[in-house]
Amino acid sequence: MNIYTQCCGILLLLIVLWFYGNQKRLHLNTGEAFLRTLLVGLSSIILDALSIVVICNMEHLSEFFVKAVCKTYLASLVILALCAVHYICTDIYTKKVEYRKAFYYNLVIAVIAIAVIYISPIYIHCEKGGTEVYTYGVSVMTAYAAALINLVINTILLIWKKSVIRPSRRKAMLFWMLIWIGAAVIQFFNNEILLVGFGEALGIMILYIKLENPEVNLDRQTGLFNQTALTRYMRQLSNREKHFSLVLMVLEYSFYKNISQESETAAEMEMINYIFTVPGTMAFKTAGDEIMLLYENEATAEEGLRILRKRFERGWGKDESVFKRPFWIYLPDSAVLKDVKDITQLIKHARQNSKELIDNGFLQIDKELADEMYRTRDMEQVIFNAIERNWITVYYQPIYSTKENKITSAEALVRITNEEGKVVPPYDFVWVAEKNGMMLRLGEIIFDKVCEFIRDAKPEQYGIQYIEVNLSTIQCAHELFAENCIASMEKYGVRPNFINLEITETAAIGAKNVVLSNMQKLIDYGVSFSLDDFGTGESNLNYIAEMPVAIVKFDRTMINSYFENGKAKYVMDAAMHMIHGMNLEIVAEGIETKEQFEVMKSLGISYIQGYYFSRPIPEQAFIEYIRDYKEE
Ligand code: C2E
Ligand code: MG
Ligand code: MG
Repeated sequence: MNIYTQCCGILLLLIVLWFYGNQKRLHLNTGEAFLRTLLVGLSSIILDALSIVVICNMEHLSEFFVKAVCKTYLASLVILALCAVHYICTDIYTKKVEYRKAFYYNLVIAVIAIAVIYISPIYIHCEKGGTEVYTYGVSVMTAYAAALINLVINTILLIWKKSVIRPSRRKAMLFWMLIWIGAAVIQFFNNEILLVGFGEALGIMILYIKLENPEVNLDRQTGLFNQTALTRYMRQLSNREKHFSLVLMVLEYSFYKNISQESETAAEMEMINYIFTVPGTMAFKTAGDEIMLLYENEATAEEGLRILRKRFERGWGKDESVFKRPFWIYLPDSAVLKDVKDITQLIKHARQNSKELIDNGFLQIDKELADEMYRTRDMEQVIFNAIERNWITVYYQPIYSTKENKITSAEALVRITNEEGKVVPPYDFVWVAEKNGMMLRLGEIIFDKVCEFIRDAKPEQYGIQYIEVNLSTIQCAHELFAENCIASMEKYGVRPNFINLEITETAAIGAKNVVLSNMQKLIDYGVSFSLDDFGTGESNLNYIAEMPVAIVKFDRTMINSYFENGKAKYVMDAAMHMIHGMNLEIVAEGIETKEQFEVMKSLGISYIQGYYFSRPIPEQAFIEYIRDYKEE
């Protein structure tokens, strides 16, 4: 009786089953599909061996029984091939509708094939004292054909859906299919070589080692699930349209008296083991000092969070001597995420933008915060596209000199265009570009464009004496800022006194030394500076004294309060007095009416800027404006 290969196969699968059953596992779709394949595979090889045993003992058994065993084995082959289809479809199709379509065709083929296997005749060949045993006939042919069709469909799916499966997974699955098809083909042409059973076992073993080993989902040090596992699990829940809650524990701080490394590790293990005991908690180690807890609903999450926060008030380890003070970031409802992979970005955004976390060590992420993250991200894309495709333009707003009674300068104001061709105003994107550092590149482009405009349009021929260019704080604080500006002016042949750079008070906070050194280099070169946004924020007059500026720009909000509020008049009068005392000029911004213009002029303000003269306009329109400008 030749059942050695089957016995080897059974042994292999029992080993796999033992390992798989004893490991900590995440309830993933593919894991369930694998377990099903493993169990059907095992039953199939057992049936294979059993059919040989019953054939060899045919004379003692009824023919009906022997044939029924053989046919059941054949049916199990078809079911096994169907399990493989199920496994692969689970991996490829995340949407239920698509999955059903792909799987149900194969199911129909399998059901018909099994019916034919049981109805049609089977013949048994048993010679040489049971060493040459095989079955043949329509029943056998049908089993082979159906299994082969399923396996070939699988192979085609793997090749066709290439883009949705990771290459390593795809390779392992293709290898698995090839082993099965190869074993089936060999056995089909050489009936007496019973390879199919062993091939099945080998295929499942490869699947286990390469794809389903639960170890890949575990963090070695702590035994918690890892980041890969979290991503896979969240994706699965989201594909099933299930909401979940997350709690991120950031364990940055621990306090303890002089204790050994060993005691510290023991305290850590105690903490991890405690987390396992909190009802409904699934814990994932996502980074060195971060543990993400996942809950299938908000109520369990809140209860879990309460239990954990309470327990963390006490210490861990021997004599409870190790204290850990985690930050807690709580996302009650995953529905605020457009895609589960956005979670990392959302947490990063929350951490960067919340004072609450610093103050209380606890932060709850709501829809508003998530929407803000998405808006910022969309805006980053708009800025990135604008830089890549040169969708950046500079508008100019004329500035009137009350001493010369004409337009003598202008402020350069950036505009970018989005995919729909709409102009995006700077209030919407400058802060985003400042935050992510793109403002450095953007600032260089703007400055280059201004220099190019001065070279090509020659605004000096229409009485323009200088152009004001806005600077962001991060530009001024860049080590090479002055050098880069000078290089641009030289490249376009722009005289330095044609440039006035607008900085804000915030430039004086932070990297003050670098800012001042950049300013000094540029002033030595011949460039002048203005202090923008005066009258907003803290408006500390000390900054004016410290900063080597020639002009102070009164913000529109300050001008508006001057006209609306009696007391504000005195504030502005005093500021004006001091600024003039320092021998600096003033620009009044946001002047919209003739009345406002007249008042500012009578106060002795040197420069006036606002819609009263013109809104910021494109290059060509600006040139036409200054060319045709006549005082009314
Ligand atoms: P800002 O430098 O104080 O510029 C003045 C803003 O007030 C401009 O808005 C201008 O269009 C607006 N404005 C001028 N006159 C009037 C008026 O009479 N009424 C009203 N309602 N508004 C008036 P804009 O162009 O939207 O720029 C907003 C801010 O964005 C600027 O404030 C500046 O802080 C920043 N920004 C603009 N361009 C640049 C740039 O090239 N680089 C940097 N770093 N920031 C820029
Ligand atoms: Mg400005
Ligand atoms: Mg301003």
